[in-house]
Amino acid sequence: MTRVAVVGSGVAGLSTAYRLASDHNVVVLDRDAIGNGTSSRASGVITTPVDYPDWPAWSDCALEFFRDLDGTGVFEWTDREYVRGVRPADVPGAREAAAAADADASSVSLVDAAEYADVFDPEAPYEKALVWEGTGYFDVDEFLATMHRECVRRGVEFRPDTTVESVRVDGAGRGGNGAVAGIETEYGPVDADAVVAAAGSATPALLEEVLAVPIRPFTWNVAYLEADLPDDVPMGGDAVLGAYWRGTRDGRLLVGTEHRYGGDDRVTDPPEDPREFGETLDRLIADEIPSILSAVDEAPAVVRYECCPMADATTPDAKPIIDAPAEAPDGLVVAAGFHGAGVMAADSIGTAVRAHLTGESVPFALAPLSLDRFETRGTDFPFRTMFQGSVPGSAEE
Ligand SMILES: Cc1cc2nc3c(=O)[nH]c(=O)nc-3n(C[C@H](O)[C@H](O)[C@H](O)COP(=O)(O)OP(=O)(O)OC[C@H]3O[C@@H](n4cnc5c(N)ncnc54)[C@H](O)[C@@H]3O)c2cc1C
Repeated sequence: MTRVAVVGSGVAGLSTAYRLASDHNVVVLDRDAIGNGTSSRASGVITTPVDYPDWPAWSDCALEFFRDLDGTGVFEWTDREYVRGVRPADVPGAREAAAAADADASSVSLVDAAEYADVFDPEAPYEKALVWEGTGYFDVDEFLATMHRECVRRGVEFRPDTTVESVRVDGAGRGGNGAVAGIETEYGPVDADAVVAAAGSATPALLEEVLAVPIRPFTWNVAYLEADLPDDVPMGGDAVLGAYWRGTRDGRLLVGTEHRYGGDDRVTDPPEDPREFGETLDRLIADEIPSILSAVDEAPAVVRYECCPMADATTPDAKPIIDAPAEAPDGLVVAAGFHGAGVMAADSIGTAVRAHLTGESVPFALAPLSLDRFETRGTDFPFRTMFQGSVPGSAEE
């Protein structure tokens, strides 16, 4: 049986292990506890059709998995529509996007913001609202715990607290780049026929000796806020603010935003310490959320800030890399660069990695995930976010 070493036990690593477990000998290694990296900090906002608008089959695959997993272990899926407010200046763009999406039989519609008068404050700056069906949320810790349990039940071996130092390569291989022989850990070598690099923002360092990948850190900041929200409050977001929100099962409010650095809301490089909370989040909580959501009258008290000791990772086009690149040793698959939208893609990640290792077909295109779509391999590419220019109502670059 093919022996696969998966480096990283975040959503990418767990999803990979889950999809390979039936017919591969899988070992997952993490320098930390299982699932304790960036993934554990995520908000559980599952808006795959919103954040991957051009990849409907990828979104469907992920969403179907979550619905099927509902009730397994401690995992609970909640269906919830996602409503994005649209300012008057952005209405033409939003109309175009909704029409294009409609042509693809997508589930997004553009309605008058007044239809959401019970959600939006009268002061909210919106004329219209884009509404997505089929979205939802879950508790990410429950998802990680369930995926871990299901992997163990399927025979996956886990080695937490084990730093992987490098990928071992021998001289064989068809592409002239050798072939994977295993990995080197702080406790010694582990043999493997294939290695999946799912180490998030640490992936370039992990692969330093074998493959250059244009992946760099990216940070979201999230806060849980005191609130008394109705059970069925829709999830929502504002692309101009680079922000999103959702209710929680206990009636609280979770808000998340990108760091926007460099003044006048332009996105530049993140600070070196990703735990530093930017003014953007505090301004969102104090000023913007109370004037957007009717259920929030004044700046809500912060129950907990959530950020990441290890940042999430991004690429030049803010989309992930899932590939077995020709320029890499045979048997090496990269699965990283999920840019704030990795949890919602979880099962599609494992499905795509499996396709690279087995040659099986998948219900979505693999080409948009390939490394060779990029000209650069360096990590000093200009920083951009998924909101910039990619969705209606987004901040222009
Ligand atoms: C605050 C916040 C909110 C977010 N909200 C959402 C959301 O609502 N919805 C959504 O879909 N996404 C969200 N995201 C994004 C999502 O969390 C990430 O895209 C996703 O978790 C990335 O998963 P990953 O497996 O690629 O990386 P990680 O979860 O970072 O996993 C990488 C793992 O590799 C391990 N590792 C690294 N180097 C080594 C090494 N050398 N040896 C061994 N192990 C190593 C790390 O310990 C870590 O466990 C959010 C992110 C943040 C930070």
